Amino acid sequence: MNKVIQSYAESVLSGGLLNRRQALELAQAGRTDFEDFLYWADRIRRHFFGETVHICSIVPGRLGGCSQDCAFCAQSVHYDTAVDKKPRLLTEEEIVSAAAEAKARRVNHFGIVTSGRSVPEGELQRLEGIIRRLRQEFGIRVCAALGILDEEAMKRLAAAGVERYNHNLETSERHFPNIVKTHRYEERVATIRAALKAGLKVCAGGIFGIGETLEDRIDMAMELRGLGVDMVPLNFLHPIPGTPLGTMPTLAPREILRIVALYRFLLPQTHLKVAGGVCGTCGICKAGYFGRDVRASSAAIT
Ligand code: SF4
Repeated sequence: MNKVIQSYAESVLSGGLLNRRQALELAQAGRTDFEDFLYWADRIRRHFFGETVHICSIVPGRLGGCSQDCAFCAQSVHYDTAVDKKPRLLTEEEIVSAAAEAKARRVNHFGIVTSGRSVPEGELQRLEGIIRRLRQEFGIRVCAALGILDEEAMKRLAAAGVERYNHNLETSERHFPNIVKTHRYEERVATIRAALKAGLKVCAGGIFGIGETLEDRIDMAMELRGLGVDMVPLNFLHPIPGTPLGTMPTLAPREILRIVALYRFLLPQTHLKVAGGVCGTCGICKAGYFGRDVRASSAAIT
């Protein structure tokens, strides 16, 4: 048994939090003793979360036509991908029907996600009405991922019945400008803070396999911990032809498991969602969330 991994795991199990230096040491140890790393991550998961698996489902409120240039994303108008450059808004009935299906499948949370930097006022109003209807007709718990919003807009969403706002950091502050040039990392952090201030829970994570280093992975975990988000989606790049990352090699399965284990150690009491990772910000493209390592989730494209 690797003593470094074991001692950090015991510290976490008794309520401790690892710092950046310890995280680096742990990750190095996990590179040589892979099975021990997974074993202890699983012990931590069982300790804090038991065997419960929660499922969430998402529907795109708006598809494609995004003005932003996230280098991994099929929805961006900057890249020639299979996604139509003209955005498509789902109708209210399409969204309601997706929620009904999610409810029938006993999904815990239903998320409405939209492509784009943000949502205009008219669209925000329309979504508020739809969210109210979903709460009244289905009683389903509603999440939203509508891009960059301020606290006032977050309060409106909370009043309409949104429980949790999704807005990913994607990667570390250092690596972010290599991936996104049309908006700043600080805008993402400000959006997360605005959601928290408005009383919403926050789901925020990132995407891996986009050229980030181990330090970038650790720094993003530390940032998320500092912000106080309660759910962290871990996306793994599916390279999309036509995007700048379209020829990026995918991460090896063992590397993906190391990332999940690392995040379990660094965010021991935060729900982790292991996700597809075609699109990291708004989640529209996400399909095939899987896993039972913690609070696993499932995303349905409807
Ligand atoms: S991840 Fe979201 S914001 Fe970025 S390009 Fe895709 S749809 Fe736009």
